[in-house]
Amino acid sequence: MVLGMDILISGASVAGPSLALWLQRYGHHVTVVEKAPALRGGGYAVDFRGRVHMETLGRMGLRDSLEARATHMGDIAIVDAAGTQVAALPSAIFSGDLEVLRGDLADVLYAATREHVRYRFGDQITAIAQDERGVDVTFAEAPPQRFDLVVGADGVHSGVRRLVFGDDPAHTKPLGVYGGIFTMPGTMGLVRSGFMYNEPNRAVSVMSPHGGDQIVSMSFAEPGLRFDYRDVDQQRRIIAERFAGVGWRTPELLEAMERAEDFWFDSTTQIRLDRWSHGRVVLLGDAGFAGGPGGNGTGLAVVGAHVLAGELDAARGDHRAAFERYERLMRPYVATCQKQADGSPDFLVPSTEKKIAQRNRFFKTVRYLPPARRMFKYLATRTATAFDLPSYELPELVGR
Ligand SMILES: Cc1cc2nc3c(=O)[nH]c(=O)nc-3n(C[C@H](O)[C@H](O)[C@H](O)COP(=O)(O)OP(=O)(O)OC[C@H]3O[C@@H](n4cnc5c(N)ncnc54)[C@H](O)[C@@H]3O)c2cc1C
Repeated sequence: MVLGMDILISGASVAGPSLALWLQRYGHHVTVVEKAPALRGGGYAVDFRGRVHMETLGRMGLRDSLEARATHMGDIAIVDAAGTQVAALPSAIFSGDLEVLRGDLADVLYAATREHVRYRFGDQITAIAQDERGVDVTFAEAPPQRFDLVVGADGVHSGVRRLVFGDDPAHTKPLGVYGGIFTMPGTMGLVRSGFMYNEPNRAVSVMSPHGGDQIVSMSFAEPGLRFDYRDVDQQRRIIAERFAGVGWRTPELLEAMERAEDFWFDSTTQIRLDRWSHGRVVLLGDAGFAGGPGGNGTGLAVVGAHVLAGELDAARGDHRAAFERYERLMRPYVATCQKQADGSPDFLVPSTEKKIAQRNRFFKTVRYLPPARRMFKYLATRTATAFDLPSYELPELVGR
């Protein structure tokens, strides 16, 4: 093992801290730079499903702390405009084997790494220049610094991807669905449960895994919407406009959105690149291979972090060999997950009343037909398990 490489990771959400956890255990010096001024809370629930995800979390030593924060969500009631339940989304299918709020996951990862990893919040990379022996990085705030490797784990709008791989529109495949997510004080008496309401091309869902606060998600389908991913006021306006006149309890949710501090908005976009590395720079998680809803994005980020760190260790720090193997191993897995996510808009935001009714009928049937339920669960887990997790020499879990 080559000890003590200086490695810079951009992005402190899921992929970045997951990789940091492994790299510091393998003996590297890790810095994580995050654009946000502090660890970002918020987000809906993300889930892990099947043996590959669960084995990876186990090897990371995080199973217990994540289980302690698990949502244990029940079914989500699909309601009509009057609030009457018409069907239910079964939790066994949609919450996977372990579901946590994205903010809780980021929290657990940060807590597990902060002691040994240098986190630098409120800063970002502005330039990257690499040569045979290292990478010179310029930051918006901190003085320039040289690293052995740089990892872009900075999400769908990755700054590292833009700087190193260019701003090619071919890298992004928007699925035509946009969503805003925020937390508000509970008003619907939900505990480990939720509601979902649809109108054509619109979906509103509310859930509360622990009682108290409820998390609201508003998604809409629209081809080719342009928005500035840095302009949160504009994003709130977009949601307010698209959901004006939508029924059920949408008006009160829109009011709460205006006050929400953790409002998050994004397009559901897949990232597709011919290569994930360029010299000493490599992409991980959504920055390199975002899948979109149902594409196991969080699982891919966590498994990808394990594989990338494991391959670097196995290659004794030869980054070229490691990046090549990382990519060769992960690519088919990513492709399978992205393919599954391609169909998610039809399910999330059906485009007509007829399609909404068809979907609801399907879930009504699934609920009472155990074989259909099992079959659907199998399909929902199949892509997440479509990977042979390599056995790497695991570093000791020190002090955890
Ligand atoms: C606030 C938030 C809420 C989310 N909510 C949901 C959700 O409800 N459901 C869902 O399925 N997915 C959600 N996601 C996305 C989900 O976390 C990812 O799809 C998945 O977990 C992979 O994580 P990632 O770490 O690769 O990317 P992300 O989770 O997108 O994290 C990227 C990180 O990089 C930071 N960053 C961005 N640009 C830069 C830059 N130039 N320099 C430094 N840092 C930068 C971001 O602030 C963020 O912390 C959310 C992400 C965020 C940041």
